[in-house]
Amino acid sequence: MFIENLIFPRVCFICGKKIFEKQTYTCENCSNILKYMWDEKICQYKNAYFDKLVSVFQYEGMIRNKILSFKFNNKTYLGKAFAYYISFLLKNENIFFDLIIPVPIHYKRFFERGYNQSIILAQNISKSFNIKCETKILLKIFNSKAQSLLKLKDRRNNVLNTYKVKNKSKVLGKTILLVDDIFTTGATTNECSKVLKQNGAKSVVVATISYVRRSFDG
Ligand SMILES: [Zn+2]
Repeated sequence: MFIENLIFPRVCFICGKKIFEKQTYTCENCSNILKYMWDEKICQYKNAYFDKLVSVFQYEGMIRNKILSFKFNNKTYLGKAFAYYISFLLKNENIFFDLIIPVPIHYKRFFERGYNQSIILAQNISKSFNIKCETKILLKIFNSKAQSLLKLKDRRNNVLNTYKVKNKSKVLGKTILLVDDIFTTGATTNECSKVLKQNGAKSVVVATISYVRRSFDG
């Protein structure tokens, strides 16, 4: 038993029940219910520019609700729990990288929402690995429509040529961990990976909390 936990008992990020084990974010019950994606972490993707995909949870049920709260309802504290699971999986799978970059959003959307959930994830992963997180290298230069509003087949075109690398020397020869919240068709992360590779990144590992589709035609 840890004293800090006696003074500040933490709660399960899913159901809110108190938990006491160190570095655990879910109670035993929720932990049994959650569907982990650990067997499907590296997938086949048509025309992939990234080298690996690491996703923790199936996008459904309680996890889906929590991700939506995290993304749209200012529940930024959830980022710490989600980042913990991503970091745990990366460590467990011995995946190495030199630099962490979150998928950017356009500055107009940033000011509307007040935060970028991918930055919160990336900064927490950065702390856990003690590896630098750069939030100003990969930029979203055009404010495209929200992917979630589009049909799957239109998503790739929507993000085409909307990202830019600002400082090429910082990605040159690096293995980059590209962090996002949800992997749906992969259009966003693949476009970001393309731009990073075009600017000299050696390899790109995509890490997301959750993963939606199993066929990669989007
Ligand atoms: Zn729980």
